Amino acid sequence: MRTPVIAGNWKLFKTIGEATALVNELKPLVARTRNVEIVVAPVFTALSRVFDAVAGSNINLAAQNCYWEEEGAFTGEVAPKLLKDAGCSHVIIGHSERRQYFGESDATVNRKAKAAIAAGLTAIVCVGETLAERESEKTFSIIESQIESGLEGLSAEVLANVIIAYEPVWAIGTGKTASDEQAQEVHSFIRHLLARLFGQAAADAVRILYGGSVKPDNVKGLMAKPDIDGALVGGASLKAESFAAIVNFGL
Ligand code: PEP
Repeated sequence: MRTPVIAGNWKLFKTIGEATALVNELKPLVARTRNVEIVVAPVFTALSRVFDAVAGSNINLAAQNCYWEEEGAFTGEVAPKLLKDAGCSHVIIGHSERRQYFGESDATVNRKAKAAIAAGLTAIVCVGETLAERESEKTFSIIESQIESGLEGLSAEVLANVIIAYEPVWAIGTGKTASDEQAQEVHSFIRHLLARLFGQAAADAVRILYGGSVKPDNVKGLMAKPDIDGALVGGASLKAESFAAIVNFGL
């Protein structure tokens, strides 16, 4: 059995005060939740204070990005070990907004994933096709190359520290969700691909999250699909009530 993961990506929202207020509101709403890995990903500047706020609770902390070097003359970058130091257990890598606006490529995703895992973090590796790619029937070839290149050189053992997030770009922040069937079709494809690359046992253990306008009213249908193991949530994670309703999808 794979433990579901519900991760909130707060993107470039929330001051330190707003971020700590949000987790303080969230904590009692999810305090009794069992068997769900709950993750929140604030901006870098709020990580340490949010970590203090979630200490002792069932909420885990993620960063939204990292660099692959440990230290050095890399102005403006943040190393995985510094994320660990700030209290992170997870880091999101290769989000489509980073690919679109900041030149993130499968090669940089690969370097970041390796560095994050080496530092003891769980890497949430994002993949997904654009609308043009879906319409020209390139979805599966795009996902295949993103996974093959993004995870190149990782071993089956190390895959235990990877979570895949399938996020069709056309569904992020648009209010358009992939249908449960569309999502399951790609998730199943990803699991088969992982089995080919890393073996069946490793593939069966990997959590594959869906992301793209997940809301309290569509999470149940998605989570009912056999290869959907959780959600990466943007907009709906910015309010404690809606994020808690998603976390508590099974209640
Ligand atoms: C995301 O940021 O990863 C995301 C899926 O956003 P939204 O839920 O707002 O579509």
